[in-house]
Amino acid sequence: MSKQTLSFQAEVAQLLHLVTHALYSNQEIFLRELISNASDACDKLRFEAINHPSLYEDKPNLEVRVSFDKAAKTLTIADNGIGLSQQEAIDNLGTIAKSGTKDFMSKLGADDKANAQLIGQFGVGFYSGFIVADRITVESRRAGLPSTEGVRWVSGGAGDFEVEQIERAARGTSVILHVRDDAAEYLNAWKLKQIIGKYSDHISLPILMEKEEWKEGENDQPGDMAKTGEWETVNKASALWARPRKEITDEQYAEFYKQISHDTEAPLAWAHNRVEGSTEYTQLLYIPAKAPFDLYNRDAKAGVKLYVKRVFIMDDAEALLPSYLRFVRGVIDSADLPLNVSRELLQESRDVRAIREGSTKRVLSMLEDLAKKQKTVPDSSEGKIDVGSGEATPAPDPTEVTDVEDKNTVQPAADAAAQFADDSGKYARFYAEFGGVLKEGLGEDFGNRERIAKLLRFASTSTDAVDVSFADYKSRMKEGQEAIYYITADGLSAAKNSPQLEVFRKKGIEVLLMTDRVDEWALNYLTEFDGTPLQSVAKGAVDLGKLQDEAEKKAAEEAAEGFKPLLARLKDALKDKAEDVRVTTRLVDSPACLVVDEHGMSTQLARLLKQAGQ
Ligand code: ADP
Ligand code: MG
Repeated sequence: MSKQTLSFQAEVAQLLHLVTHALYSNQEIFLRELISNASDACDKLRFEAINHPSLYEDKPNLEVRVSFDKAAKTLTIADNGIGLSQQEAIDNLGTIAKSGTKDFMSKLGADDKANAQLIGQFGVGFYSGFIVADRITVESRRAGLPSTEGVRWVSGGAGDFEVEQIERAARGTSVILHVRDDAAEYLNAWKLKQIIGKYSDHISLPILMEKEEWKEGENDQPGDMAKTGEWETVNKASALWARPRKEITDEQYAEFYKQISHDTEAPLAWAHNRVEGSTEYTQLLYIPAKAPFDLYNRDAKAGVKLYVKRVFIMDDAEALLPSYLRFVRGVIDSADLPLNVSRELLQESRDVRAIREGSTKRVLSMLEDLAKKQKTVPDSSEGKIDVGSGEATPAPDPTEVTDVEDKNTVQPAADAAAQFADDSGKYARFYAEFGGVLKEGLGEDFGNRERIAKLLRFASTSTDAVDVSFADYKSRMKEGQEAIYYITADGLSAAKNSPQLEVFRKKGIEVLLMTDRVDEWALNYLTEFDGTPLQSVAKGAVDLGKLQDEAEKKAAEEAAEGFKPLLARLKDALKDKAEDVRVTTRLVDSPACLVVDEHGMSTQLARLLKQAGQ
C-alpha cells in the first residue's frame, strides 16, 4: 500500500473541532482515554489468544509504556496489544463507528460548556489526543501479521489523515502525540505519574515509565532529570473490584465509576461484594447521579461490563441485569463462566441467571437504603416523618461477604450510601432521573414487583413534590376508604384540574397524581398495594364504598330516574362517540366529564397510542 490521504467522516471533523475547542478545562483526560484504548487492545489480544495462543508471538506479558521526549516535544503511549491492520487503522481512526453517535451528535449545541459535559459523558476516545497535540502519529502492527504489514497513520486533526504501510517488528500500537507548546507541562514525568495515578491505577495491566535520576549540571549548566534506561511500573495494576473493600477509598471508587461510565459526576451510591454460593462472582455496581442522554433509547447500551476471572469479556452485557435497571453501571467478574462465553450463551446460562437475580436484588436494596435515608419534608398531613439516621455502619470485610445458597441475604452497609454523612437528598435525586425507568420494572420483573412498588413515589392532591409512596398514602387514608385512588394525566396541572377529582376534593380524599408517560402502562401491572386495591378515578363508576353518602347515592338514583329521557336523547346523539351516558356523583362543579369503562383503555393511554400512530 502506498501513502494515501483520506478524509475524516464528517462527524469526526465536527467532533475534532469540539474536542479542541470545548475541552479546555479538563485537558488531562486525553491520557486516560489513550491508556484505556491501550488496555482495551491488550484485553482484545488476551481474548483472541484464548483460541489462538500463537498471537502472543514471543511476548506474552502485556503492558503499556508511557514515554516522552522533551527535545522532540513528543509523548508516546505504546502497547503490545492486538494492534491495527492497515484497514482497521483507516476504519477505526477515521470514523466514529460507535452506535448512538448520531444521537450524541444531535444533542450538541452552541454552548461549549454543555458540549464539554456531553463529550465527557460520551467519551471522545482516541480523538482526545488532539486536546494537547497538533499532530498525532500512530504506528501499529496487528498481532499475527508479518512485520512488513505495519501501518503508519498521521493527522493534524483537521479534515484528513494519511496512512502508509511500514515495517514494524513490534506487535501493538504506539500513539505518538506531537505536543503543542502550550501543553508542554505534559512532557514531565511527575505530571504524567500523577495523572496515571488518578485515572489508571485500577487498570489491570502494568503501565511502565522510564526511571529518571537527577544529573548535576556541568560547566555551569543547570542540572536536570535524565533517563536511566530502566523501566518501572507506575500504577497499582490491579483490578479495583478485586481488591479488598477496606483498601479502596471513596475517591477511588468514584474515579473508577467515572472511568467506566464516562460520567463527569460522582455516583450516588455503590455496592461492592464478593458473592459465593452456587455461583461465585464479584459485583461492583453503581447508581449514577445523572441520566445519560440516551436513557430512553431502547437500544441504548446497558452499563455492566462482564469479566471472567479478571479477563474482560464484553461491555454492556444486557443479560446481567433486567432492562429497567439499565441505568446501573459497573462490573461483574464471574469465577465460573467459560472465557469464550458468547452473548447467546449468556442468555441461557444458569450462572448468569443467578448473577442477574443476585445483582437485581442488590440494586433494589441499594435503592431501598437510599429511600430510607431520604429526608421527607413533613407537609400539612400528619404522620409522615421518616428521617434516616445517615449513620455509617461498619462495613464487613469483603472476603466474608457471602450470599450463601443464592438466598441473597445481602450484607448490610456494603454500600457507599452508608458511608456518606448526608444521604438525605439522594433518593429524590435518583428518582427524578430514573424513576420513570424503574417503573418499567412493574411490567418486567414480576418477582420483585412488590419491592419496586415500594420504591415508587408520586405527587398527590396533598403535595406537588413527587415524594408520596403508596405506604405514605395508605397511612393517610380516610376511615372507611377501601382503595388507593389515582389519576393519570399529561401533566401536573392537567391532573389537578381534572373534573374527575371534584368529589374526592370535596370529601378530602387524597388522590395520587400520575403524570409520567410510563405510569399508565406500568399501573396495568399493579392492581393492589399491600392488600389495598388501586383504582383510577377516571375509570368506571367510582365506588367510594363506605365513604359514599347514602343520601347522596339516593339523590343520584332519583335524579337518574328523572333524567332518563334526557339521558336517552344524549345517548342517541352521541351514539358513535360514547358508549354510555349516566348521572354521576363524582362531579361537584363541572357539568360533565369523560370516563372510560372499568376495563377499558384510559383516555390518557388512548391518546398516547394515537400519538404513536396506532
Ligand atoms: P472506543 O475505545 O470507545 O472504541 P476510541 O475513539 O477510543 O473509541 O477508539 C476508536 C477505535 O480505535 C477503537 O475502538 C480501536 O478499534 C481503535 N484503537 C484505538 N487505540 C487503539 C490501540 N491502542 N490499539 C488498537 N486499536 C486501537
Ligand atoms: Mg477508547
